[in-house]
Amino acid sequence: MDHGGAHGRRVFLRAVGIGAAVVGFDAGSRAWATESDTAEAADGLPRLDGTLLTDPAALAPYAEDFGHLVTGRTPRAVLLPGSVADIAAMIRFCGPRGIEVAPRGQGHQGYGQAQVEAGLVIDMGPLNAITVDPGGRTVSVQAGAVWSAVLTACLAHGLTPPVFTDYIELSVGGTLSLGGLGGAAHHHGAQVDTVVELDVVTGTGDVVTCSPTRHADLFHAARAGLGQVGVITRAVLTLVPAHAGVRKYTLTYTTLSAFVAAQRRTVRDGRFDWLEGAVAAAAGGGWQFQLEGAVYFDATAPDDQALIGDLGGEGSPRIEEFDYQGFVDDLAPAIAYLKSTGEWYDPHPWFEMFLSDEAVESSVGATLATLTPADIGASGLILLYPVPTARLRAPMLRVPDSELAFLFAVLRTAAPDADARSAAEMLAANRALLLKGQAVGGTVYPGGAIPMTGDDWRLQYGDQWSVFQAAKRRFDPHGILTPGQEIFPRG
Ligand SMILES: Cc1cc2nc3c(=O)[nH]c(=O)nc-3n(C[C@H](O)[C@H](O)[C@H](O)COP(=O)(O)OP(=O)(O)OC[C@H]3O[C@@H](n4cnc5c(N)ncnc54)[C@H](O)[C@@H]3O)c2cc1C
Repeated sequence: MDHGGAHGRRVFLRAVGIGAAVVGFDAGSRAWATESDTAEAADGLPRLDGTLLTDPAALAPYAEDFGHLVTGRTPRAVLLPGSVADIAAMIRFCGPRGIEVAPRGQGHQGYGQAQVEAGLVIDMGPLNAITVDPGGRTVSVQAGAVWSAVLTACLAHGLTPPVFTDYIELSVGGTLSLGGLGGAAHHHGAQVDTVVELDVVTGTGDVVTCSPTRHADLFHAARAGLGQVGVITRAVLTLVPAHAGVRKYTLTYTTLSAFVAAQRRTVRDGRFDWLEGAVAAAAGGGWQFQLEGAVYFDATAPDDQALIGDLGGEGSPRIEEFDYQGFVDDLAPAIAYLKSTGEWYDPHPWFEMFLSDEAVESSVGATLATLTPADIGASGLILLYPVPTARLRAPMLRVPDSELAFLFAVLRTAAPDADARSAAEMLAANRALLLKGQAVGGTVYPGGAIPMTGDDWRLQYGDQWSVFQAAKRRFDPHGILTPGQEIFPRG
């Protein structure tokens, strides 16, 4: 990799860190230079509208993430961009010098994906403008905005993005880099399927507006592209009318097959606006299964019998009512609780994979047969729900070759208590589950913490691997972007 000239050459940036003023990058020692180092030379000074942080205390949070599994990959600097031009200028600066760059939204990935040792992290937070176009039923969002803010802005116009993740304090750029799945995906696809247009700063520092008809190759590589081809700086998303109320039904099943059969039935007939499902420890040992379906409404409440009368299940279904915003944000109280107990800050070796309709029962059944609550931790959670693959159209969001893709998410928490498995044991268990999933044609939903090799990534992308590789070479020719995903060989 080109490190930008002779060792010891100083290349200067005009930016101010917390503490010493950062004015350059020493290509020889690969350290950012401060004012006191400036005697030697100066060139390539991007003028920044924002700020570059280099103070160790300011950098420390960027060597961490929600997973708390990969720590210590400390960047040399963090850009708080004042403009898209700042991102472009810094990428143009870093590329030829081989300085790796990672955009970071809210840092909620689990395995160091937004970290970059000795490189530059771009904290997307300051770029968070949201502009709703009520007539066009679209919203233009800067990538650092969080989905809760997008929701509030859109609701002011009676509109909403059609698909939300379960937790909405995630950045738009972060979830669009993964896919963005939620209970409404079975009608609307993933969040990436609701994107009309993107602005992307590529690895060459070019700012490109792309869409299905304009620079389509970049559009298709950037959505669910795991930050490999560019930094998404703005997205235009479709909106739908927001309803006032939501009625949610939770039905319990004692067998996996009855649960999955009910999910299949409802996902195919589309009776629910939102459909998910969970696996929970049963009182007498083993597991039980909860189908969660919800219907949006305005004046007329839904007919419960018509909606769930044919779905079976044990005991009485739980029926809850929310206003729409409360429903979309219904995880907030649980997360506030986990923060109050400190469990939110424990390691999170999350496993997330898509399984085909054909494999889901045997594969999940075999996993649950050996899994115990200790394997997922006291505040761990297991999700299982189907999405029709025909709705998941972004080519980089890899799903099995099947009519339905079931998201199987074993969301483990490694609490520091004596009975719990260690984070290392949980990571090893994730790798074992990966191999089992691959053997039945499963694909990874890459938000969690699964140790993966280069061969695993090639298998993951299948016939899209060469397309992804070509896009990487073209849009990130210096190979600097988002190394924490560990997809492409470095240097
Ligand atoms: C409690 C919780 C609940 C969740 N629920 C869901 C869910 O229901 N559905 C779902 O799909 N996911 C869910 N996730 C996973 C979540 O979507 C991912 O972790 C997502 O990446 C988080 O967004 P972020 O802003 O924190 O991204 P970060 O962790 O900051 O970044 C994620 C990745 O994207 C890259 N990236 C970030 N911003 C950009 C950008 N602007 N351009 C290009 N690349 C970028 C980063 O470099 C990194 O590789 C959940 C996570 C948590 C912690």
